[in-house]
Amino acid sequence: MSYAGPEFESPRPRPRRRPLTLALAVLVPGALLGWLVYEGVGGAADGGGAPAAVNAPVSAPPTVSSTTADDKALSAPLRGKVVVIDPGHNLTNFRHTAEINRKVDIGTGRKACDTTGTSTNSGYAEAKFSLDVAHRLRTLLERQGATVKLTQDGDRPYGPCVDERARIGNRAKADAVVSIHADGAGAGQRGYHVILPGRVHKGIADTRRIVVPSAALGKRVAADFGRVTGTKPANYIGDGTGLDTRTDLGGLNLSTVPKVFIECGNMRDSKDAALLTSAAWRQKAAQGISEGIVSFLRG
Ligand SMILES: [Zn+2]
Repeated sequence: MSYAGPEFESPRPRPRRRPLTLALAVLVPGALLGWLVYEGVGGAADGGGAPAAVNAPVSAPPTVSSTTADDKALSAPLRGKVVVIDPGHNLTNFRHTAEINRKVDIGTGRKACDTTGTSTNSGYAEAKFSLDVAHRLRTLLERQGATVKLTQDGDRPYGPCVDERARIGNRAKADAVVSIHADGAGAGQRGYHVILPGRVHKGIADTRRIVVPSAALGKRVAADFGRVTGTKPANYIGDGTGLDTRTDLGGLNLSTVPKVFIECGNMRDSKDAALLTSAAWRQKAAQGISEGIVSFLRG
């Protein structure tokens, strides 16, 4: 399979935005012109005295009434917000061991570009889990009006590398980034935890400005995840808080925007695995994460 190189950057975001921008550029003046023409000609043609209710859909000026704006704010509270979802690992990383083992700079040292992730004992891969939850989460956030971008969507042979995963969020000027994972701990170790960026100011890493907002994001995601899924914080890390702080993850160290990881459960524990392999539970997981993000972004 061809290999585009570590500096490859997907050109997808631009072509996606251009048609919309172009359409708006055409439509807005078009709407204005149409309204002016209607007011000048159409109004006279029907005697100029048609009831406002009949005219409203066609002749209303292209402005937004306060009522409509309020309605939009209620139905799309995340309009204007950018959320980047980072589905952990990649389903085909295992076919690209040389590429994913290449070391990248994470500020505090050098670390593998990416890893294969774990799986349940029956072979359900973490990468499959994370991408599925990412898709469900994307749908929920878009329904709230957010602009959502994934760092990978099963569309790359491997990775992206952890440093690029961080840069995708940075370049998108994301208001929040959540990296989705499930853990590979020992049997009997159960529950979820959210990983927060620790304070790092070394080499190319500087998390000083994101530590506080990321903690706020992480606490809300952890609380809402636990409430919606009905599962408990991890019993093996975080002292029952469901929170852990790390300075050894490139995806966090190199982020310049609020970012957390969530380990939704332990794939190697049979009880957690029963949840993680359930589509209905994954929907709850996405719902919980979504509610945490919405809560954070609405302040
Ligand atoms: Zn993982």
